[in-house]
Amino acid sequence: MAGPGAAGAGAALPVREYAQQIIETISQNPVAVVIGETGSGKTTQIAQLLDEAGFSKGGRIAVTQPRRVAAVSVGRRVAQEMGCEVGQEVGYAVRFEERTSRSTRITYLTDGTLMRELLDDPQLRKYAVVVLDEAHERTLNTDILFGVLKQLVRTRKPKLRLVVTSATLDGDKFSAYYGGCPVLTVPGRCHPVAIVHARENHDRDHLQASVDTVMDIHEHQPPGDILLFLTGQAEIDKAVRLLNEAVAVLPEGACDDLLVLPIYSALPLEMQARVFAPPPLGCRRVVVATNIAETSITIDGVAYVVDPGLVKQKSYNPHTGLDSLDVVPISRVQATQRAGRAGRTGPGTCFRLYTAAFFEREMLNATVPEIQRTSLLSAVLYLKNLPLAVDVLGFDYLDPPGRGALEDALRQLYLLDALDGDGRVTALGRAMSALPLEPSLARSLLAAVDLDCLPDAITIAAMLSAESVFAGNRGPEQLARGEQGAGRAGAREQQAQLRQGIPEAGRKQLKELMAEGLGDHVLYLRLFQAWERTGWSAEWCRELGLDLRGMRFAKDVRRQLEAIAGPDGASLLKTAEGVPSGAAAPDSPGERARKRRRSEDRGAERLRRALMMGFANRLARRMPQHNGYKTLGVGATLAQLHPATARIAADDSGLLPEWLIYHELVATARHNMLKPTERLQLAERATVKSYSLRKQDGGQDQFVAYLLPMDLSRRADEAGPSREPDESEYEW
Ligand code: ADP
Ligand code: MG
Repeated sequence: MAGPGAAGAGAALPVREYAQQIIETISQNPVAVVIGETGSGKTTQIAQLLDEAGFSKGGRIAVTQPRRVAAVSVGRRVAQEMGCEVGQEVGYAVRFEERTSRSTRITYLTDGTLMRELLDDPQLRKYAVVVLDEAHERTLNTDILFGVLKQLVRTRKPKLRLVVTSATLDGDKFSAYYGGCPVLTVPGRCHPVAIVHARENHDRDHLQASVDTVMDIHEHQPPGDILLFLTGQAEIDKAVRLLNEAVAVLPEGACDDLLVLPIYSALPLEMQARVFAPPPLGCRRVVVATNIAETSITIDGVAYVVDPGLVKQKSYNPHTGLDSLDVVPISRVQATQRAGRAGRTGPGTCFRLYTAAFFEREMLNATVPEIQRTSLLSAVLYLKNLPLAVDVLGFDYLDPPGRGALEDALRQLYLLDALDGDGRVTALGRAMSALPLEPSLARSLLAAVDLDCLPDAITIAAMLSAESVFAGNRGPEQLARGEQGAGRAGAREQQAQLRQGIPEAGRKQLKELMAEGLGDHVLYLRLFQAWERTGWSAEWCRELGLDLRGMRFAKDVRRQLEAIAGPDGASLLKTAEGVPSGAAAPDSPGERARKRRRSEDRGAERLRRALMMGFANRLARRMPQHNGYKTLGVGATLAQLHPATARIAADDSGLLPEWLIYHELVATARHNMLKPTERLQLAERATVKSYSLRKQDGGQDQFVAYLLPMDLSRRADEAGPSREPDESEYEW
């Protein structure tokens, strides 16, 4: 079994046995596809083979990974195998973290990171070979890279080679896309895996069913590690706790010890590394993992897989702008992959917590590629920034996204001033894509330079980049009240813990910080500032119910964004040269008035204006008769404020603000919800664009654009008696 420190550990892997064929095929063809079972050595060995064969003389070898964790862990592993320090001959690069140097020959990087590198170096001159690994995952970024690299291998022929590797049998599809390139299949050495289906589909909580199954295996089955697939961090943490509790009540000496190991992306690296360490003698391990263990990482020694058949999947509806993160059944291809994990070191068993009929009839054959179920805002802005591809509607996709999703992205980018009326990227759009942030946050930062509040905008962007800054996924209000969250069953104990954990003093402070009542964004800023004043005290974070890891991540991202922006945003402005300002119409009276008033503005007001520029595509208007908000957009949608948002103070007449910006529109079981949100009460007119989109024959995406002035302030004194808005006036 390959343990850590195993230089030359890959020698016995199937990919090594086919080394000669693999190298020959890649030498003779600009594009090659390699199919091999998970664990056959594609990720760790192919780059080393190429390096040994001298390919790295012509440039670096890049290997992309869809996930950060995988890029980092594999980079470390391969460095170890090659007997070097990570960052020397072998390195990795992920968003906000890079470990490479002049001597680097192999880089493991996320697909998103390679996309960013393409913006700075459209020819990818640094690289001699790009391996698009884990192609079967079909992430949005990898799908975009398929198309971009297809063009690039042609223009850089024969200096750039492309290798596509996949763990599933989709070789023919890739080959057809790349003009019939060769497909090499590396036979696996999988031992037989017995599949045990549940007799009935569990109507119980799948978490409890999983825990019971693991304990049953532990007590009654011969030695061998167990791999349990769950859908996310919260669930995994809970399962780990339940398993440890169950082990504690087993009679002394009844069976071996059970070592419970979680693995998910947000887990600190040292904790992740534990799953690769050799297991202690006479001890069974149970690894509780997200989908990451399905194909991205291989844990040796697994003999039992427990598969509840579920995965957390993001989807986006371009017609309503609704994002949802749902737990959905996996596909048959995924179920087969999961089962295969039990047969790596010897015969194994996979316990499926669903019936054979469910597998046959209810599961999709394969997962829908991400490009067909996600927002394309960043991807389209990216494509628009490449010198080669401008016509995103006509781009050469492996599987094209829906027309509606592309139009939605074009529309939003236009509203953010990233595209002009002809669908061409503006200087501002170029500057936005230079920032490692989603378009709205990037736009806010650029507006903030102009409005003189960049440091604060950076703080907010950093806080929004952290997965969660509040412990237990509660909102600030809920924490301050020590209250339970929105109808989440099963979170009771956690809530009780939290309540106990947050002392009265902490809750009081939190309330004080929220007193401004502007909403989440300004609260994030105040929290960060207050934390800074404590000298980054961990104790203080705990007292307020903040997630220390999230806060530290935000602090780190903040530092990096500052470095990218340069003093006073000088670097941002340089990229945006020729862009007058954060405003759409720079010389409008509104703009002049804004400049005049700038010095009088309170800080938060300027900041909120910068946010408004960035979130012009995500505005919501109060609908008193529905007791909620309605989003502006193609498919205006009614939504409630998410319970995890900060309270927004009512105005003098006791009403919630008429306008809000929001970061995300999410669907929950009962309502659509907005989070996080920020009150908008601009002291002057803002101009919001209206648009329509038309595709000219053979031409580029083109907008027929006109401007619709809209008064967003509607302050009682200016707007006269308030009237119900004529909604059609505001439909974009
Ligand atoms: P594939 O990409 O074909 O799925 P990999 O190259 O990832 O295969 O894995 C080959 C072998 O390397 C496996 O036995 C796996 O356990 C081992 N391995 C991969 N990553 C690590 C790591 N970070 N630490 C230790 N071993 C690893
Ligand atoms: Mg792999």
